[in-house]
Amino acid sequence: MPIFCGTRRITAVEIRVDARFGSVFSYPMELRKDPITRSWVITGDDPVDGNARQRGACPFCPDSPNAAQIISTQMGSQGAAWAARAVVHPTPLYRIEGDPGRRGDGLYDRMRSVGAHEVLVENPNHQRHLWQATDREIEQFLRLAAERILDLKNDARIKYVSLFKDYGSHAGQEFEHPTSQLTATMFVPRRVLYELRASREYFLSKERCVFCDILNQEERQAVRVVEARGDYVALCPYAPRVPYETWILPRTHEAGFERTALVRPDMLGELAAILRRTLQRIRTVGEDFHLVLHTSPNSLHPSKTLGFWKTIEDDYHWHIEMLPVIGSKSRSYTFKEVYYSPVTSEAAVKHLRAAKIEG
Ligand SMILES: [Zn+2]
Ligand SMILES: [Zn+2]
Ligand SMILES: [Zn+2]
Repeated sequence: MPIFCGTRRITAVEIRVDARFGSVFSYPMELRKDPITRSWVITGDDPVDGNARQRGACPFCPDSPNAAQIISTQMGSQGAAWAARAVVHPTPLYRIEGDPGRRGDGLYDRMRSVGAHEVLVENPNHQRHLWQATDREIEQFLRLAAERILDLKNDARIKYVSLFKDYGSHAGQEFEHPTSQLTATMFVPRRVLYELRASREYFLSKERCVFCDILNQEERQAVRVVEARGDYVALCPYAPRVPYETWILPRTHEAGFERTALVRPDMLGELAAILRRTLQRIRTVGEDFHLVLHTSPNSLHPSKTLGFWKTIEDDYHWHIEMLPVIGSKSRSYTFKEVYYSPVTSEAAVKHLRAAKIEG
């Protein structure tokens, strides 16, 4: 979601990036910067039918003959070998080795797709999705996500780590097995960059965090809050991009999700519960959805344009965004240019609050 929308059709077959880069590495894709919007896009020609790699045994099930390369594992309980694990994406968009080789091309900018692309296997069970799992299982998945983000942020070349999940054929789901994905990039994805700029400007003028202010007002007005549970609040944003868009935010101000997970591990159980319950609610309006975690950028990589992250700890506030994909209500053109939501947040929240959920 942060950088590619819709169904991704990239295959294991790699193409060699422009020989002028003069590298021994081959990359499946390259990054190009749009000089008008200043956002990076990932592009390359895909020579083979992307569905080819879906054949054969699931690479994420335990004991799979096609097993993907394991990066890290969260131990299981009650006899299970493992609870959640991170593996290398079978056909990664980003590769960790090499130099991005950023260079100009006339007035344009381009670089190799250096970074990391991992699949986070949410559960060893092929049929057990996040909204069906136990809170303990979801907690293990969240802990894994936090540990992977922290680990990738140790690489000072990485500017941002995105965690996202696309569920359902209309949302560009890639694998049948319950999975999320993680990309570590040399740039900050466009939507997050908008948020970082806006949060910083808000903080500079008001000396307050815009997300804390949103939470305070929403809790006071109580017209768009879906549920408040422990330290977490699920709400429908005032200006939704799609019908039933829902965010989960911690009440305690914190810029980075991964820190909450490690400094306050007790909070992960509460987050797991509200995430599971919110997904159950959202799935009463449609099957498919996008989910994305917005956390702080890598402060090891200083940003000149954003003041070297000087106020980032105070101005940014991590959160999870969920965007249901409802075919009958989508408008392809307006979705890209001006978001169009034919259901207001105030109406959406009534439906989501009343949704029948378990536990
Ligand atoms: Zn599987
Ligand atoms: Zn805040
Ligand atoms: Zn956000």
